[in-house]
Amino acid sequence: MRAMDARSDDDGRADKAAPRAETPRHAQCDVLVIGSGAGGLAAAVAAAHHGLDVIVAEKTETFGGTTAFSGGWLWVPNAPHAVAANKGENPEGPRTYLRHILGNRYDAGMIDAYLEAAPRMLDFFEKNTAVHFLPGSAMPDFHGNLPGAAKGWRSVVAAPYDGRALGGLAGRLRQPIPETTLLGMGIGSGVDMRMFLTATRSLRAFAYVTGRVLKHARDLVFHRRAMQLVNGNALVGRLLRSAADRRVRLWPNAGAHDLLRDGPRVTGAVLKTPDGPVHVVAKRGVVLATGGFPNDADRLQALLPHVQEGTPHYSAAPVTNSGDGLRLAESAGGRVSRTMTDAAAYAPVSLVPRPDGSLGRFPHLIERGKPGIIAVMASGRRFADEGGPYHDYVREMIAATAPGTPAVSWLVCDRHFLRRYGLGAVKPAPVPFGRWLRNGYLIEAPTIAELAKRCGIDSVGLVATVEAFNRNAARGEDPDFHRGTTPYQRAQGDPDHRPNPCLAPIVKAPFYAVKIVPGSLGTFAGIETDARARVLDGAGRPVPGLYATGNDMNSIMGGHYPSGGITLGPAMTFGFLAAETIAAGDVAQEARHEGEQDAVQSQS
Ligand SMILES: Cc1cc2nc3c(=O)[nH]c(=O)nc-3n(C[C@H](O)[C@H](O)[C@H](O)COP(=O)(O)OP(=O)(O)OC[C@H]3O[C@@H](n4cnc5c(N)ncnc54)[C@H](O)[C@@H]3O)c2cc1C
Repeated sequence: MRAMDARSDDDGRADKAAPRAETPRHAQCDVLVIGSGAGGLAAAVAAAHHGLDVIVAEKTETFGGTTAFSGGWLWVPNAPHAVAANKGENPEGPRTYLRHILGNRYDAGMIDAYLEAAPRMLDFFEKNTAVHFLPGSAMPDFHGNLPGAAKGWRSVVAAPYDGRALGGLAGRLRQPIPETTLLGMGIGSGVDMRMFLTATRSLRAFAYVTGRVLKHARDLVFHRRAMQLVNGNALVGRLLRSAADRRVRLWPNAGAHDLLRDGPRVTGAVLKTPDGPVHVVAKRGVVLATGGFPNDADRLQALLPHVQEGTPHYSAAPVTNSGDGLRLAESAGGRVSRTMTDAAAYAPVSLVPRPDGSLGRFPHLIERGKPGIIAVMASGRRFADEGGPYHDYVREMIAATAPGTPAVSWLVCDRHFLRRYGLGAVKPAPVPFGRWLRNGYLIEAPTIAELAKRCGIDSVGLVATVEAFNRNAARGEDPDFHRGTTPYQRAQGDPDHRPNPCLAPIVKAPFYAVKIVPGSLGTFAGIETDARARVLDGAGRPVPGLYATGNDMNSIMGGHYPSGGITLGPAMTFGFLAAETIAAGDVAQEARHEGEQDAVQSQS
C-alpha cells in the first residue's frame, strides 16, 4: 500500500512504501478507524493499547482534520489535573449546569457516561501516551450566571509539543488555518497569546515573542513548517506520536466510501486510494470519525433553518469533512438525529481573500471580547453581547435578521483597537496591515458615518449606536447587553483595562470594519449511538461492529454550547469508550444479536 503504512516505522514516517507490484487490494485488521481527528486517533491509540491491530484511514493527505485547526481545549469536569490541585467537585455541579442549558435535550444516560469516562480517558492518555494536557484553571463555563457554572478547572488544553518528536510524520500533520497563525506559527491560548498581544508594551513579552519568532524561522528553514506545536496542532501531534508508538497503521489518502457487511454486521470498509480501491476487513469493529457534515451542502440545507431561508453557511472546518461518516452509518441502518436544538456549533466567520483567489474562513473566537469593539447589523444597531460565546453570537445575528434576508453583521472598531488586538485575520502591531485594505477584507474610513457608508450600513443608525455605546463604555457599563458581567466575558477581555475589561469607547480615527457571516466550528447533529459509542439502528439496537465518535456521533450536548471544549472532550472520550468496548469483545451484544438472528431464521 503505497505511501500509507506508518506501522513499521519507529520514527513515525508515514511514507514507508511497499513496492507497487505488491500493493494489496485487501487488508485485514482488528479495528478500522475512519478519520484521523481527535475522535478517530483517540479510538485508535486506545484500541492499540488494548493489543488490537488498528488501521486509521484518512481521506486527505494530512492527518488531524478540524482538530488540527482547533484550540485543543477539552471540557472535562473532575479532570485528573483538577483533582490533583484539590479542585475536584461533586458531579452534581456540572449536571446542574448542563440541565439548565440542555433542558429537555438533557440525556442523563449519556451525560453520566461522559462525566464518568472523560476523567478516566484523560488519566489513560496522561499515564500511557505522549498526549498531555495543561489545566484550564481560569477558563470559565460560557454561562456563568446559571446554577452549577464553574469559573475554572473544568477544562484542559493540549500541552505544546515539539513537532520534531514526530520525525517524518510531521509532514503529514495538517497545518492550522493559515490566517489564525503568524506566518504559519500557531499562537497558544493563555500566556502565549498574552505575550503576543503585549509584545509592543512589555520588554519581557518582546523578548519572549522574539525567541518564538526566531525559532519559527529556523523551523521553516529546516522543516518547512512550524514545529513549535500549540493548541489543536499539538493535540494531533501528540496523538499521532502515540499512535505510531503503538504501531497503528496510519493511511493518508484513503477515504472510506462503502462499508463491508456480513448480514447486519459491519465487517470493514472499502477505501478509495490513489492505487485503486482497497477492501479492509476489520475483525473486531469499524469506528466512524469523519468529523460530521460541516461541508455537506445537502445535509446543511436539511438541518440548518437559516440555510433553508437562503443564508449561506461557512464552516471553518476542512472542506473535506463532507458528511461521509453519516452516510456510511445510514447505509448500515444507523440514524442521524434531527432533534438537536442547533445542528451545528456556530461561530462568526469572516471571509478572507487568499492570493490563490480562494476565500479562507476566519472564525472570530477571541477579539470580540476585547474592549473597544462592537458588532452591528445593517441598521447600525447592536444585537448581542459581542464578547459572548461564539455560538450565541451567530444565533442572535440570525434572530436579528429579517426573514428572507441573508444574515450579515459587522465588527466595528477604531485604530487603537486594531493595533492592540487585531481584527480577524488582521494582526496587531507591529504586523503591517496594508494588504487587508487593498484586498477589501478590512474597510477603513476617517469617520464612523463614512465607515457606515462604505460598508452599506445605515450611517445615522451607526453614529447613534457608537455615541451611546461610548458614553456607557467610558463608565464601564453596557446597559443593553451587559458585557463584562460574567466570568467568561471577563476572561475574554483585557485584564489590564479598567474599569471593565470588556468595554472601551471607539474614538480614535480612522475606524475599521470587517464583515461577519454565519459559520461553524463543526456540526452537532450526528449518528445516534448508545453510551458506549455503538451505532444504533432504527429500533434502537446496536448495529453490530459499528461505532461512531467525534462529530460523526450525535452531540451529547443536544445542540447547545455550554462551554469551550464540549466537542473535543466527548470526541476523545467516546473514541476511548469505543476502543474499550471493542477490546472487551462486546460479548453481551453479540450473544443477543445472534439469538435474534436465529429467531428470525427459524420463523422464515
Ligand atoms: C478554529 C477552531 C477552533 C476550535 N477549538 C475547539 C476547542 O478548543 N475545543 C473543542 O472542543 N472544539 C473546538 N473546535 C471544534 C473541534 O475542532 C471539532 O469539533 C473536532 O475537531 C471534531 O473532531 P472529529 O474527530 O470529529 O473530526 P475532525 O478532527 O474533523 O477529523 C475528521 C477527519 O476525517 C477525515 N475524513 C472525512 N471523510 C472521510 C472518509 N470518508 N474517510 C476517511 N477519512 C475521512 C477528515 O479528512 C478529517 O481528517 C474548534 C474548531 C475550529 C475550526
